[in-house]
Amino acid sequence: MDLFFSKEEQLIQKAAREFGEQVIAPVADQIDRENKIPKEVMEGLAELGMFGIQFPEEFGGSGAGHLCYMLALEELSKAAPGVGATISVNSVPLAVIQAFGTPEQKAKYMRDGVTGKKIYSFAFTEPGTGSDPKQLTTMAVKDGDHYVINGTKRFITNAGFEGTMVVIAKEEESGKATAFILDKFCEGYSVSKPWDKIAAHGGELYDVYFNNVRVHRENMLGSVGDGLWVLKIAMVYGKLGLVALFLGVAAAAYEEGVRYAKEKTHRGVSIAEKFEHVKIAVSEMTMKMQASRLYAYYLGHAADHLKDPMELVKEAALAKVFVAETGIEVCKLAMGIHGSYGLQREYRISRLWSDVIFGPQVEGTAPLLKILAAGVILGK
Ligand SMILES: Cc1cc2nc3c(=O)[nH]c(=O)nc-3n(C[C@H](O)[C@H](O)[C@H](O)COP(=O)(O)OP(=O)(O)OC[C@H]3O[C@@H](n4cnc5c(N)ncnc54)[C@H](O)[C@@H]3O)c2cc1C
Repeated sequence: MDLFFSKEEQLIQKAAREFGEQVIAPVADQIDRENKIPKEVMEGLAELGMFGIQFPEEFGGSGAGHLCYMLALEELSKAAPGVGATISVNSVPLAVIQAFGTPEQKAKYMRDGVTGKKIYSFAFTEPGTGSDPKQLTTMAVKDGDHYVINGTKRFITNAGFEGTMVVIAKEEESGKATAFILDKFCEGYSVSKPWDKIAAHGGELYDVYFNNVRVHRENMLGSVGDGLWVLKIAMVYGKLGLVALFLGVAAAAYEEGVRYAKEKTHRGVSIAEKFEHVKIAVSEMTMKMQASRLYAYYLGHAADHLKDPMELVKEAALAKVFVAETGIEVCKLAMGIHGSYGLQREYRISRLWSDVIFGPQVEGTAPLLKILAAGVILGK
């Protein structure tokens, strides 16, 4: 289904597919076991420009657009979703710095993240909430030309890498959510050991502790109280990555299901040929994949053409829910085709099941996103 894509999009998609198949897939088990992406893979991704597909050339990116980024991320996530998660989250702070940053902030922070020299993070979630900015407890207290940040952030992807982080904290005087740019591992910054999550290994998650972290006021992103807007834009661009990631996982499950149906035999005949319910499952998976792909690519296309990303809030939320939930359905069908083998760790489909199941839970749970989108649709 590449009818709609430009030459550049097709070329970058192909490069990502080949890198996924030739470089990532051979170490996918290792990534899964060790919950770490090998250095050579990270370097290869950077060399190929995979961290900067959608960002302008002036910052070291390809300027190839959001749809192109999603096509590439789908391919990389198909090989190992943790790779997709790492790139996807890296692009979130970059997107908000691009949207809200001063020329000085852009000049200082964009290039390292866009080129993959450093790996960036976005920190909103806390032990008390992953959805409600009003409940934030991480505080930024003004002290002369600086802000002093104290608090704990939870489930922060890429927090163990050197690089930049955009953090949303409550500015003490106003009581409003406000965004700051800081260097990870500055004085007062520390992380927990990585969470032992069941899925998307390699995309490491940490708790982050801010203990009197001093940030110059020049590092505020936007103005006091803009944290909510920064968060909204972050959620839109974050969802482009997540949609591509879950599409990639579903595509991998689809391929496993079809392959197994053709290879597994019953009395000398493949189960794909022999059993009607297997044929039906294959068709159902195909329909679901096509619908998901169209929704995902539509979102990428819209992101490339809409001037105001706020117009994408509803679309991005619902596309993420749709692709994540449909991915689970595809994976379930593929597991069904595998019978009891689908439950064994030796079979890739069992790992994909863990990878796909977390889709509706991250970056806004599915029910929450549906409620928010309905608010937009119903004009509330
Ligand atoms: C793999 C992974 C990577 C992540 N990476 C990051 C990251 O890089 N940065 C970051 O900041 N966070 C990250 N997170 C955190 C994630 O985005 C949040 O955990 C997620 O948004 C859900 O928040 P919560 O778990 O705190 O649930 P809560 O917000 O506490 O919600 C709990 C329950 O209440 C429901 N609920 C809450 N509010 C409402 C409402 N208003 N209306 C209806 N229902 C509601 C939810 O649906 C849910 O069922 C990551 C999480 C995972 C698993």
